[in-house]
Amino acid sequence: MKNFMYKVHQFMYGRNGIDGFGIFLFILSLIIKNIAYFSFNVLLDILSILIILFLIYRIFSKNLARRQKENEFFMTYFKKIYSWFSAKTHLAKERAKVRSTHKIYVCPKCKRLLKVPRHKGKIEISCPCSYKFYKRT
Ligand SMILES: [Zn+2]
Repeated sequence: MKNFMYKVHQFMYGRNGIDGFGIFLFILSLIIKNIAYFSFNVLLDILSILIILFLIYRIFSKNLARRQKENEFFMTYFKKIYSWFSAKTHLAKERAKVRSTHKIYVCPKCKRLLKVPRHKGKIEISCPCSYKFYKRT
């Protein structure tokens, strides 16, 4: 067993292996595979197989520079989407907490959350970052 692991290690040396993009491809192919299964869609089934083949190709690829660039490209977008998504969930949670008495606005300049009382008509909201904007409350 030890010998086998050593051989695996030797084989994988200088190859890309699993990275963030690889994990994403794996999950993506599973999702597509499931959709294909429930919708009887052969094209989606083929697509999920192609993604798996691309994933395997990336794992064993020796072109590390190219694979790292792909991964960095993916991670940049993934982080952007993730932070956008978590900001939206955070805002929704904060709004739900104070729904009956207050409204929460996002400062267009610095993205800070600003809590203002409801039913005050159109008011000027001034953010600590000194940016001012008008909203109906
Ligand atoms: Zn601000």
